[in-house]
Amino acid sequence: MTLGSIPLIQREPELWAKIGEKLLSTEYDERDVPIAQKKSIWLGMGMTEKQGGSDVRANETIAVPVAETGRGKAYLLTGHKWFFSAPMCDAHLVVAKTEQDGLACFFVPRWLEDGTKNQIQVQRLKEKVGNRSNSSSEVEFKNAWGIMIGEAGRGIPTIIEMANYTRLTCSVGSSAMLRQALVQCIAYTRQRQAFGKHLIDQPLMRAVLADLALESEAATQLSFHLAQCYESDDALSVAWKRIMTPAAKFWICKRAVELTGEMMEVFGGNGYVDNGIMARIFKEAPVNTIWEGSGNVMCLDVLRAIGRDPESMEVLFKDLASTASTDKALQTELQDLFRLFHQSPEDLQFMGRSLVSRLTLLAQAVLLKRYAPDYVANGFIQSRFSAKHGQVVGMLDAKMVDIERVLERAFAS
Ligand SMILES: Cc1cc2nc3c(=O)[nH]c(=O)nc-3n(C[C@H](O)[C@H](O)[C@H](O)COP(=O)(O)OP(=O)(O)OC[C@H]3O[C@@H](n4cnc5c(N)ncnc54)[C@H](O)[C@@H]3O)c2cc1C
Repeated sequence: MTLGSIPLIQREPELWAKIGEKLLSTEYDERDVPIAQKKSIWLGMGMTEKQGGSDVRANETIAVPVAETGRGKAYLLTGHKWFFSAPMCDAHLVVAKTEQDGLACFFVPRWLEDGTKNQIQVQRLKEKVGNRSNSSSEVEFKNAWGIMIGEAGRGIPTIIEMANYTRLTCSVGSSAMLRQALVQCIAYTRQRQAFGKHLIDQPLMRAVLADLALESEAATQLSFHLAQCYESDDALSVAWKRIMTPAAKFWICKRAVELTGEMMEVFGGNGYVDNGIMARIFKEAPVNTIWEGSGNVMCLDVLRAIGRDPESMEVLFKDLASTASTDKALQTELQDLFRLFHQSPEDLQFMGRSLVSRLTLLAQAVLLKRYAPDYVANGFIQSRFSAKHGQVVGMLDAKMVDIERVLERAFAS
Protein backbone atom coordinates (compact mmCIF):
# COMPACT_ATOMS: atom_id res chain seq x y z
CA MET A 1 0.00 0.00 0.00
CA THR A 2 2.88 2.35 0.78
CA LEU A 3 4.35 1.68 -2.66
CA GLY A 4 0.99 2.35 -4.32
CA SER A 5 0.57 5.65 -2.51
CA ILE A 6 3.86 7.14 -3.74
CA PRO A 7 2.78 8.27 -7.25
CA LEU A 8 -0.24 10.02 -5.71
CA ILE A 9 1.75 11.84 -3.03
CA GLN A 10 4.41 12.84 -5.59
CA ARG A 11 1.79 14.99 -7.29
CA GLU A 12 1.16 16.97 -4.06
CA PRO A 13 4.30 19.16 -3.87
CA GLU A 14 3.83 20.49 -0.33
CA LEU A 15 3.10 17.08 1.17
CA TRP A 16 5.81 15.36 -0.87
CA ALA A 17 8.39 17.87 0.40
CA LYS A 18 7.49 16.85 3.96
CA ILE A 19 7.21 13.07 3.63
CA GLY A 20 8.68 11.99 0.27
CA GLU A 21 12.05 10.93 1.64
CA LYS A 22 10.43 9.04 4.50
CA LEU A 23 8.19 7.17 2.06
CA LEU A 24 11.15 6.15 -0.09
CA SER A 25 13.21 4.97 2.86
CA THR A 26 13.86 1.22 2.97
CA GLU A 27 14.26 1.19 6.75
CA TYR A 28 11.33 0.38 9.03
CA ASP A 29 10.87 2.87 11.85
CA GLU A 30 8.47 1.18 14.25
CA ARG A 31 8.19 4.09 16.70
CA ASP A 32 4.65 5.28 17.47
CA VAL A 33 5.38 9.01 17.13
CA PRO A 34 4.32 11.85 14.78
CA ILE A 35 5.57 11.70 11.19
CA ALA A 36 7.94 14.66 11.69
CA GLN A 37 9.97 12.58 14.17
CA LYS A 38 10.19 9.44 12.02
CA LYS A 39 12.90 8.29 9.61
CA SER A 40 10.50 6.24 7.50
CA ILE A 41 6.73 5.91 7.26
CA TRP A 42 4.05 3.52 5.98
CA LEU A 43 0.74 4.37 4.34
CA GLY A 44 -2.48 2.35 4.21
CA MET A 45 -5.79 2.72 2.38
CA GLY A 46 -9.34 3.36 3.59
CA MET A 47 -12.10 2.76 1.04
CA THR A 48 -14.36 -0.05 2.20
CA GLU A 49 -17.39 0.78 4.36
CA LYS A 50 -20.08 -1.49 5.83
CA GLN A 51 -22.56 -0.87 3.04
CA GLY A 52 -20.10 -1.74 0.30
CA GLY A 53 -16.52 -2.13 -0.80
CA SER A 54 -16.77 -2.84 -4.53
CA ASP A 55 -19.05 0.14 -5.07
CA VAL A 56 -16.96 2.94 -3.58
CA ARG A 57 -19.57 5.47 -4.77
CA ALA A 58 -21.71 4.27 -1.86
CA ASN A 59 -19.18 5.69 0.67
CA GLU A 60 -20.89 7.75 3.37
CA THR A 61 -17.97 9.19 5.35
CA ILE A 62 -18.26 12.98 5.25
CA ALA A 63 -15.42 15.50 4.89
CA VAL A 64 -16.03 19.10 5.99
CA PRO A 65 -13.51 21.84 5.15
CA VAL A 66 -11.70 23.45 8.08
CA ALA A 67 -11.55 26.74 6.13
CA GLU A 68 -10.93 26.75 2.38
CA THR A 69 -12.04 23.94 0.08
CA GLY A 70 -10.12 21.95 -2.53
CA ARG A 71 -6.87 20.15 -3.18
CA GLY A 72 -4.21 20.56 -0.51
CA LYS A 73 -6.71 22.00 2.01
CA ALA A 74 -7.54 20.61 5.44
CA TYR A 75 -10.85 18.81 6.16
CA LEU A 76 -12.43 17.05 9.14
CA LEU A 77 -13.73 13.53 8.44
CA THR A 78 -16.65 11.87 10.20
CA GLY A 79 -17.77 8.32 9.46
CA HIS A 80 -16.27 4.84 9.45
CA LYS A 81 -14.26 2.27 7.50
CA TRP A 82 -15.19 -1.40 7.81
CA PHE A 83 -11.81 -2.69 6.63
CA PHE A 84 -8.79 -0.59 7.53
CA SER A 85 -5.71 -2.78 7.30
CA ALA A 86 -2.39 -2.07 8.93
CA PRO A 87 -3.84 0.49 11.35
CA MET A 88 -0.33 1.09 12.72
CA CYS A 89 0.47 2.92 9.44
CA ASP A 90 1.56 6.52 9.87
CA ALA A 91 -1.26 7.69 7.60
CA HIS A 92 -4.00 6.30 5.39
CA LEU A 93 -5.41 7.55 2.10
CA VAL A 94 -9.13 7.72 2.82
CA VAL A 95 -12.10 8.24 0.50
CA ALA A 96 -14.80 10.57 1.86
CA LYS A 97 -17.63 12.70 0.51
CA THR A 98 -17.56 16.51 0.43
CA GLU A 99 -20.75 18.52 0.20
CA GLN A 100 -19.28 20.72 -2.52
CA ASP A 101 -17.69 18.21 -4.91
CA GLY A 102 -18.68 14.65 -3.96
CA LEU A 103 -16.04 11.98 -3.32
CA ALA A 104 -12.42 12.94 -2.78
CA CYS A 105 -9.30 11.31 -1.38
CA PHE A 106 -7.66 12.48 1.86
CA PHE A 107 -4.27 11.96 3.49
CA VAL A 108 -5.22 11.17 7.10
CA PRO A 109 -2.24 10.85 9.52
CA ARG A 110 -2.41 8.91 12.79
CA TRP A 111 -0.71 11.69 14.72
CA LEU A 112 -1.28 15.42 14.24
CA GLU A 113 1.57 17.88 13.86
CA ASP A 114 0.89 19.33 17.34
CA GLY A 115 1.80 15.96 18.86
CA THR A 116 -1.76 14.79 19.65
CA LYS A 117 -3.44 11.68 18.18
CA ASN A 118 -5.83 12.17 15.25
CA GLN A 119 -9.49 11.30 15.88
CA ILE A 120 -9.38 7.77 14.41
CA GLN A 121 -10.80 5.21 16.82
CA VAL A 122 -10.02 1.55 16.27
CA GLN A 123 -13.23 -0.31 17.14
CA ARG A 124 -11.91 -3.83 16.73
CA LEU A 125 -9.34 -5.99 14.94
CA LYS A 126 -10.91 -8.50 12.54
CA GLU A 127 -10.75 -12.21 13.38
CA LYS A 128 -9.66 -13.39 9.91
CA VAL A 129 -9.38 -16.83 8.29
CA GLY A 130 -5.68 -16.26 7.67
CA ASN A 131 -3.53 -13.23 6.87
CA ARG A 132 -2.65 -13.00 10.58
CA SER A 133 0.57 -11.04 10.06
CA ASN A 134 -1.47 -8.14 8.71
CA SER A 135 -3.92 -6.70 11.20
CA SER A 136 -7.16 -5.41 9.70
CA SER A 137 -9.28 -3.08 11.78
CA GLU A 138 -12.67 -1.40 11.86
CA VAL A 139 -12.38 2.32 12.56
CA GLU A 140 -14.49 5.37 13.22
CA PHE A 141 -13.50 8.91 12.34
CA LYS A 142 -14.80 11.62 14.65
CA ASN A 143 -13.64 14.89 13.09
CA ALA A 144 -10.41 13.22 11.97
CA TRP A 145 -8.07 15.72 10.32
CA GLY A 146 -6.95 15.14 6.73
CA ILE A 147 -5.63 16.93 3.64
CA MET A 148 -7.34 16.53 0.28
CA ILE A 149 -5.05 14.94 -2.29
CA GLY A 150 -5.85 14.73 -5.99
CA GLU A 151 -8.66 16.70 -7.53
CA ALA A 152 -11.90 17.45 -5.73
CA GLY A 153 -14.63 15.12 -6.98
CA ARG A 154 -12.05 12.64 -8.33
CA GLY A 155 -11.76 10.47 -5.24
CA ILE A 156 -12.38 7.17 -7.01
CA PRO A 157 -9.87 7.56 -9.88
CA THR A 158 -7.31 8.83 -7.35
CA ILE A 159 -7.62 5.84 -5.01
CA ILE A 160 -7.91 3.40 -7.93
CA GLU A 161 -4.49 4.53 -9.16
CA MET A 162 -3.15 3.33 -5.79
CA ALA A 163 -5.25 0.16 -6.05
CA ASN A 164 -3.69 -0.73 -9.39
CA TYR A 165 -0.33 -1.07 -7.66
CA THR A 166 -1.82 -3.12 -4.86
CA ARG A 167 -3.59 -5.32 -7.43
CA LEU A 168 -0.24 -5.92 -9.08
CA THR A 169 1.24 -6.85 -5.72
CA CYS A 170 -1.65 -9.27 -5.11
CA SER A 171 -0.58 -11.12 -8.28
CA VAL A 172 3.07 -11.02 -7.26
CA GLY A 173 2.11 -12.24 -3.77
CA SER A 174 -0.03 -15.12 -5.05
CA SER A 175 2.72 -16.14 -7.50
CA ALA A 176 5.12 -16.17 -4.55
CA MET A 177 2.71 -18.33 -2.55
CA LEU A 178 2.47 -20.79 -5.44
CA ARG A 179 6.25 -21.00 -5.69
CA GLN A 180 6.72 -21.29 -1.94
CA ALA A 181 4.14 -24.08 -1.70
CA LEU A 182 5.68 -25.85 -4.71
CA VAL A 183 9.13 -25.75 -3.12
CA GLN A 184 7.65 -27.20 0.07
CA CYS A 185 6.02 -29.98 -1.97
CA ILE A 186 9.25 -30.78 -3.77
CA ALA A 187 11.22 -30.95 -0.53
CA TYR A 188 8.56 -33.11 1.10
CA THR A 189 8.11 -35.61 -1.72
CA ARG A 190 11.86 -36.03 -2.02
CA GLN A 191 12.10 -37.44 1.49
CA ARG A 192 8.68 -39.03 2.10
CA GLN A 193 8.27 -42.64 1.04
CA ALA A 194 5.15 -44.65 0.20
CA PHE A 195 4.89 -48.13 -1.32
CA GLY A 196 8.65 -48.55 -1.29
CA LYS A 197 9.56 -45.42 -3.23
CA HIS A 198 10.01 -41.72 -2.62
CA LEU A 199 6.80 -39.90 -3.49
CA ILE A 200 8.71 -37.83 -6.01
CA ASP A 201 9.39 -41.02 -7.98
CA GLN A 202 5.74 -42.10 -8.15
CA PRO A 203 4.49 -41.37 -11.70
CA LEU A 204 1.15 -39.96 -10.63
CA MET A 205 2.79 -37.63 -8.12
CA ARG A 206 5.18 -36.50 -10.87
CA ALA A 207 2.19 -35.56 -13.03
CA VAL A 208 0.76 -33.48 -10.19
CA LEU A 209 4.05 -31.75 -9.41
CA ALA A 210 4.85 -31.02 -13.06
CA ASP A 211 1.43 -29.46 -13.56
CA LEU A 212 1.95 -27.30 -10.45
CA ALA A 213 5.43 -26.30 -11.66
CA LEU A 214 4.02 -25.13 -15.01
CA GLU A 215 1.37 -23.07 -13.26
CA SER A 216 3.86 -21.55 -10.83
CA GLU A 217 6.22 -20.49 -13.60
CA ALA A 218 3.40 -19.03 -15.72
CA ALA A 219 2.13 -17.00 -12.77
CA THR A 220 5.60 -15.67 -12.01
CA GLN A 221 6.31 -14.74 -15.64
CA LEU A 222 3.08 -12.78 -15.92
CA SER A 223 3.46 -11.00 -12.57
CA PHE A 224 7.00 -9.88 -13.28
CA HIS A 225 6.29 -8.92 -16.86
CA LEU A 226 3.54 -6.67 -15.52
CA ALA A 227 5.84 -5.29 -12.82
CA GLN A 228 8.30 -4.35 -15.55
CA CYS A 229 5.52 -2.56 -17.48
CA TYR A 230 5.00 -0.37 -14.39
CA GLU A 231 8.48 1.07 -15.04
CA SER A 232 7.47 2.61 -18.41
CA ASP A 233 4.79 4.73 -19.99
CA ASP A 234 4.94 3.70 -23.66
CA ALA A 235 1.65 2.63 -25.29
CA LEU A 236 2.42 -1.08 -25.00
CA SER A 237 3.31 -0.95 -21.29
CA VAL A 238 0.19 1.15 -20.64
CA ALA A 239 -1.98 -1.42 -22.46
CA TRP A 240 -0.49 -4.33 -20.49
CA LYS A 241 -0.87 -2.41 -17.20
CA ARG A 242 -4.43 -1.27 -17.77
CA ILE A 243 -5.88 -4.49 -19.16
CA MET A 244 -3.69 -7.21 -17.69
CA THR A 245 -3.36 -5.93 -14.09
CA PRO A 246 -6.98 -6.77 -13.17
CA ALA A 247 -6.89 -9.85 -15.43
CA ALA A 248 -3.78 -11.24 -13.70
CA LYS A 249 -5.17 -10.35 -10.27
CA PHE A 250 -8.33 -12.31 -11.10
CA TRP A 251 -6.69 -15.38 -12.56
CA ILE A 252 -3.47 -15.86 -10.58
CA CYS A 253 -5.05 -15.18 -7.18
CA LYS A 254 -7.94 -17.51 -7.98
CA ARG A 255 -5.61 -20.28 -9.17
CA ALA A 256 -3.63 -19.91 -5.95
CA VAL A 257 -6.75 -20.72 -3.90
CA GLU A 258 -7.29 -23.99 -5.76
CA LEU A 259 -3.66 -24.98 -6.08
CA THR A 260 -2.63 -24.30 -2.49
CA GLY A 261 -5.39 -26.77 -1.54
CA GLU A 262 -3.91 -29.27 -3.97
CA MET A 263 -0.42 -28.69 -2.58
CA MET A 264 -1.69 -29.19 0.96
CA GLU A 265 -2.83 -32.64 -0.15
CA VAL A 266 0.68 -33.50 -1.36
CA PHE A 267 1.62 -33.51 2.34
CA GLY A 268 -1.20 -35.94 3.15
CA GLY A 269 -2.56 -35.59 6.69
CA ASN A 270 0.44 -33.50 7.71
CA GLY A 271 -0.71 -30.83 5.26
CA TYR A 272 -3.97 -30.34 7.12
CA VAL A 273 -2.37 -29.70 10.49
CA ASP A 274 -2.84 -26.08 11.41
CA ASN A 275 0.62 -25.27 12.73
CA GLY A 276 2.35 -26.37 9.52
CA ILE A 277 3.37 -24.17 6.61
CA MET A 278 0.86 -25.64 4.12
CA ALA A 279 -2.14 -24.73 6.27
CA ARG A 280 -0.80 -21.21 6.61
CA ILE A 281 -0.35 -20.77 2.84
CA PHE A 282 -3.76 -22.34 2.16
CA LYS A 283 -5.49 -19.91 4.54
CA GLU A 284 -3.57 -16.93 3.21
CA ALA A 285 -4.40 -17.54 -0.46
CA PRO A 286 -8.08 -16.39 -0.60
CA VAL A 287 -7.37 -12.91 0.72
CA ASN A 288 -5.73 -11.91 -2.54
CA THR A 289 -8.84 -12.89 -4.49
CA ILE A 290 -11.03 -10.61 -2.37
CA TRP A 291 -9.25 -7.45 -1.28
CA GLU A 292 -8.29 -4.73 -3.70
CA GLY A 293 -11.32 -5.81 -5.72
CA SER A 294 -12.80 -9.31 -5.85
CA GLY A 295 -13.03 -11.61 -8.87
CA ASN A 296 -16.11 -10.27 -10.64
CA VAL A 297 -15.01 -6.70 -10.05
CA MET A 298 -11.64 -7.49 -11.68
CA CYS A 299 -13.33 -9.03 -14.72
CA LEU A 300 -15.63 -6.03 -15.05
CA ASP A 301 -12.59 -3.77 -14.83
CA VAL A 302 -10.91 -5.59 -17.73
CA LEU A 303 -14.08 -5.11 -19.80
CA ARG A 304 -14.28 -1.45 -18.75
CA ALA A 305 -10.67 -0.88 -19.83
CA ILE A 306 -11.30 -2.47 -23.20
CA GLY A 307 -14.61 -0.62 -23.67
CA ARG A 308 -13.16 2.78 -22.80
CA ASP A 309 -9.92 2.40 -24.69
CA PRO A 310 -10.31 -0.01 -27.62
CA GLU A 311 -6.94 1.17 -28.96
CA SER A 312 -5.19 -0.29 -25.93
CA MET A 313 -6.81 -3.63 -26.70
CA GLU A 314 -5.53 -3.42 -30.29
CA VAL A 315 -2.02 -2.66 -28.98
CA LEU A 316 -2.12 -5.57 -26.53
CA PHE A 317 -3.50 -8.05 -29.07
CA LYS A 318 -0.93 -6.98 -31.66
CA ASP A 319 1.82 -7.67 -29.15
CA LEU A 320 0.34 -11.06 -28.21
CA ALA A 321 -0.07 -11.89 -31.91
CA SER A 322 3.62 -11.29 -32.60
CA THR A 323 4.39 -14.42 -30.54
CA ALA A 324 1.10 -16.32 -30.84
CA SER A 325 1.48 -16.42 -34.63
CA THR A 326 4.30 -18.97 -34.17
CA ASP A 327 1.93 -21.52 -32.59
CA LYS A 328 -1.27 -22.78 -34.18
CA ALA A 329 -3.21 -23.30 -30.94
CA LEU A 330 -2.31 -19.84 -29.66
CA GLN A 331 -3.12 -18.17 -32.95
CA THR A 332 -6.56 -19.80 -33.10
CA GLU A 333 -7.24 -18.76 -29.50
CA LEU A 334 -6.12 -15.19 -30.14
CA GLN A 335 -8.38 -14.80 -33.17
CA ASP A 336 -11.32 -16.29 -31.29
CA LEU A 337 -10.79 -13.99 -28.30
CA PHE A 338 -10.40 -10.92 -30.47
CA ARG A 339 -13.78 -11.67 -32.06
CA LEU A 340 -15.45 -12.40 -28.70
CA PHE A 341 -14.19 -9.17 -27.12
CA HIS A 342 -16.11 -7.25 -29.80
CA GLN A 343 -19.55 -8.43 -28.64
CA SER A 344 -22.21 -6.19 -27.13
CA PRO A 345 -21.46 -4.96 -23.56
CA GLU A 346 -24.24 -7.15 -22.02
CA ASP A 347 -22.93 -10.36 -23.62
CA LEU A 348 -19.42 -9.39 -22.62
CA GLN A 349 -20.39 -9.00 -18.95
CA PHE A 350 -22.04 -12.38 -18.76
CA MET A 351 -18.96 -14.03 -20.29
CA GLY A 352 -16.53 -11.89 -18.28
CA ARG A 353 -14.94 -14.68 -16.26
CA SER A 354 -14.51 -16.97 -19.23
CA LEU A 355 -13.00 -14.26 -21.46
CA VAL A 356 -10.65 -12.90 -18.80
CA SER A 357 -9.45 -16.41 -17.89
CA ARG A 358 -8.75 -17.21 -21.53
CA LEU A 359 -7.01 -13.89 -22.13
CA THR A 360 -4.76 -14.44 -19.11
CA LEU A 361 -3.86 -17.98 -20.15
CA LEU A 362 -3.00 -16.68 -23.60
CA ALA A 363 -0.80 -13.93 -22.15
CA GLN A 364 0.96 -16.47 -19.89
CA ALA A 365 1.57 -18.80 -22.85
CA VAL A 366 2.99 -15.92 -24.91
CA LEU A 367 5.35 -14.87 -22.08
CA LEU A 368 6.52 -18.44 -21.52
CA LYS A 369 7.21 -18.74 -25.25
CA ARG A 370 9.30 -15.59 -25.05
CA TYR A 371 11.19 -16.13 -21.83
CA ALA A 372 11.04 -19.77 -20.67
CA PRO A 373 12.73 -22.88 -22.12
CA ASP A 374 10.76 -24.52 -24.94
CA TYR A 375 9.83 -27.55 -22.85
CA VAL A 376 8.14 -25.30 -20.27
CA ALA A 377 6.31 -23.17 -22.84
CA ASN A 378 5.26 -26.18 -24.89
CA GLY A 379 4.25 -28.14 -21.79
CA PHE A 380 2.05 -25.24 -20.72
CA ILE A 381 0.50 -24.79 -24.15
CA GLN A 382 -0.02 -28.51 -24.79
CA SER A 383 -1.82 -28.90 -21.49
CA ARG A 384 -3.70 -25.60 -21.10
CA PHE A 385 -4.87 -25.34 -24.69
CA SER A 386 -5.99 -28.95 -24.99
CA ALA A 387 -9.48 -30.19 -24.25
CA LYS A 388 -7.85 -33.07 -22.38
CA HIS A 389 -6.45 -30.83 -19.64
CA GLY A 390 -8.93 -31.54 -16.92
CA GLN A 391 -10.67 -29.90 -14.04
CA VAL A 392 -8.09 -31.14 -11.54
CA VAL A 393 -4.34 -30.79 -11.29
CA GLY A 394 -2.22 -33.62 -12.67
CA MET A 395 -4.15 -34.55 -15.83
CA LEU A 396 -1.11 -34.14 -18.07
CA ASP A 397 -0.40 -36.17 -21.16
CA ALA A 398 3.14 -37.54 -20.70
CA LYS A 399 3.53 -37.75 -24.49
CA MET A 400 2.90 -34.02 -24.82
CA VAL A 401 4.72 -32.64 -21.76
CA ASP A 402 8.38 -33.28 -20.99
CA ILE A 403 7.76 -34.16 -17.35
CA GLU A 404 11.43 -34.95 -16.60
CA ARG A 405 12.74 -31.57 -17.66
CA VAL A 406 9.87 -29.57 -16.20
CA LEU A 407 10.48 -31.21 -12.84
CA GLU A 408 14.25 -30.89 -13.11
CA ARG A 409 13.87 -27.13 -13.66
CA ALA A 410 11.48 -26.75 -10.73
CA PHE A 411 13.69 -28.86 -8.42
CA ALA A 412 16.53 -26.38 -8.16
CA SER A 413 18.96 -27.95 -5.75
C1 LIG B 1 -8.13 -9.14 4.90
C2 LIG B 1 -8.76 -7.96 4.24
C3 LIG B 1 -8.15 -6.72 4.35
C4 LIG B 1 -8.73 -5.60 3.77
N1 LIG B 1 -8.14 -4.39 3.93
C5 LIG B 1 -8.71 -3.29 3.38
C6 LIG B 1 -8.13 -2.00 3.56
O1 LIG B 1 -7.08 -1.84 4.17
N2 LIG B 1 -8.76 -0.93 3.05
C7 LIG B 1 -9.92 -1.05 2.35
O2 LIG B 1 -10.44 -0.05 1.89
N3 LIG B 1 -10.51 -2.25 2.16
C8 LIG B 1 -9.92 -3.37 2.65
N4 LIG B 1 -10.51 -4.61 2.48
C9 LIG B 1 -11.81 -4.67 1.88
C10 LIG B 1 -11.85 -5.26 0.48
O3 LIG B 1 -11.18 -4.43 -0.43
C11 LIG B 1 -13.31 -5.50 0.14
O4 LIG B 1 -13.79 -6.53 1.00
C12 LIG B 1 -13.52 -5.88 -1.30
O5 LIG B 1 -13.23 -4.79 -2.14
C13 LIG B 1 -14.94 -6.35 -1.58
O6 LIG B 1 -15.87 -5.45 -1.08
P1 LIG B 1 -17.08 -5.95 -0.12
O7 LIG B 1 -16.48 -6.77 0.95
O8 LIG B 1 -17.90 -4.79 0.28
O9 LIG B 1 -17.91 -6.92 -1.04
P2 LIG B 1 -19.15 -6.50 -1.97
O10 LIG B 1 -18.82 -5.23 -2.67
O11 LIG B 1 -20.38 -6.57 -1.18
O12 LIG B 1 -19.12 -7.69 -3.04
C14 LIG B 1 -19.61 -8.99 -2.73
C15 LIG B 1 -19.47 -9.86 -3.97
O13 LIG B 1 -20.22 -9.31 -5.04
C16 LIG B 1 -19.43 -9.22 -6.22
N5 LIG B 1 -19.85 -8.08 -7.01
C17 LIG B 1 -19.80 -6.77 -6.66
N6 LIG B 1 -20.25 -5.99 -7.66
C18 LIG B 1 -20.60 -6.83 -8.68
C19 LIG B 1 -21.14 -6.66 -10.00
N7 LIG B 1 -21.40 -5.43 -10.47
N8 LIG B 1 -21.39 -7.74 -10.75
C20 LIG B 1 -21.12 -8.98 -10.29
N9 LIG B 1 -20.62 -9.22 -9.07
C21 LIG B 1 -20.36 -8.16 -8.27
C22 LIG B 1 -17.99 -9.11 -5.71
O14 LIG B 1 -17.05 -9.60 -6.69
C23 LIG B 1 -18.01 -9.99 -4.46
O15 LIG B 1 -17.77 -11.32 -4.82
C24 LIG B 1 -9.93 -5.74 3.05
C25 LIG B 1 -10.52 -7.00 2.91
C26 LIG B 1 -9.95 -8.10 3.50
C27 LIG B 1 -10.61 -9.44 3.36
